[in-house]
Amino acid sequence: AHLDRIAAVDGRVNAFLHVDREATLAQARKVDERRAAGEELGPLAGVPIAHKDVFTTTDMPTTAGSKILEGWRPPYDATVTARLRQAGLVILGKTNMDEFAMGSSTENSAYKTSHNPWDLERIPGGSSGGSSAAVAAYEAPLSTGTDTGGSIRQPAAVTGIVGMKPTYGGSSRYGVIAFASSLDTPGPFARNVLDAALLHEAFSGHDPMDSTSVSQAVPPVVEAARHADVNGLRVGVVKEFAGDGYEAGVSARFTEAVELLESLGAKVVEVSCPHFTYALPAYYLIAPSECSSNLARFDAMRYGLRVGDDGSRSAEEVMALTRAEGFGPEVKRRIMLGTYALSSGYYDAYYGKAQQVRTLIKRDFEAAFEQVDVLVSPTTPTTAFPIGERADDPIAMYLADLCTIPANLTGNAAISVPCGLSDGLPVGLQIMAPVLGDDRVYRVGAAVER
Ligand code: GLN
Repeated sequence: AHLDRIAAVDGRVNAFLHVDREATLAQARKVDERRAAGEELGPLAGVPIAHKDVFTTTDMPTTAGSKILEGWRPPYDATVTARLRQAGLVILGKTNMDEFAMGSSTENSAYKTSHNPWDLERIPGGSSGGSSAAVAAYEAPLSTGTDTGGSIRQPAAVTGIVGMKPTYGGSSRYGVIAFASSLDTPGPFARNVLDAALLHEAFSGHDPMDSTSVSQAVPPVVEAARHADVNGLRVGVVKEFAGDGYEAGVSARFTEAVELLESLGAKVVEVSCPHFTYALPAYYLIAPSECSSNLARFDAMRYGLRVGDDGSRSAEEVMALTRAEGFGPEVKRRIMLGTYALSSGYYDAYYGKAQQVRTLIKRDFEAAFEQVDVLVSPTTPTTAFPIGERADDPIAMYLADLCTIPANLTGNAAISVPCGLSDGLPVGLQIMAPVLGDDRVYRVGAAVER
């Protein structure tokens, strides 16, 4: 049914980069065989899923939305891919994304722009915009994404679905094509909080293949989503995430969500996190710095594209030609910014300062969580913007990440759940919890999701 739905609507939605009907049906038959052989499969066995094209898959191409990886076949599965295969989920295909997960709209994909199913002229968010569009358009019941600076929560918010960024290290980065390694976090998309929790549980947990994987047990997220009860819970409204720049309809839906929490017995207080407003500039130094280092591996020798290798050029020339042709403008901008921020003489002024800001944001979170159990804010300042509106204005594009980025810099758990419409477009409520407090955001999210 989902393959048929993809065939019927994806020409307009553009959620997928790769779909292979026969390969999907073969996987489904294999799950049937495993079940018939008496194998104990998990609660999601047989359920189809779409993977962001940043997760390696041995049986499908993996491009990370970049021309530089066109035609590359990974020799191994990401841990997330492998665990979900083991749990019996069936892969429908790979979804579109901003190149190397850099962007908030999928307009930076080297292949296509995905469309928001609520209004095809608008963006579905990014960078995981193919994954959010696929779930919102009923092409897939579940999908995966990665959240480095909001790339699960922002697309979930603007397409009216649930998107969760687990605690950093709670889900494995092994086999996830790296953007900014101290931030990259795989997480689930679904149409309701319980489905997201089931998927979260199926791929999370310690992975010896990822050196920053946490060793603690996965928080009880499914149980939390099933027992949504916020009576007596202390909820902090982040004072800094309101006012100028917030669309009126977004602020109105947010206020209603807070009132709903109060009516369910939560104790709501305003909390100040004075350094959160510096998160965006700090992120846009740290993420490019890490990207400039990570993307050095695309050297025209090891993966994908190779340009000008006709015997007349040196390895350095081939590398330069390949990187010039294989990377898009946003990726080049980030590599240049990051290389500059890390260069000697500038390191202390830019990268070093940004890391200090990161510590101040961590202290804001710690102080806040002495007073409250969770923090809430709008997920994004506006609803889905029209395709093209911010494409030539990187700073306007970066503003989509205003509220989501603090939790990335500190590794905290955070979710976006739908909280109503503004002018016919979905609005997201963000719920943030301490590191390893993933169950709390599911508990609150399940209580208030609309
Ligand atoms: N908008 C963010 C960026 O462009 C999204 C990053 C992400 O979470 N992958 O860096």
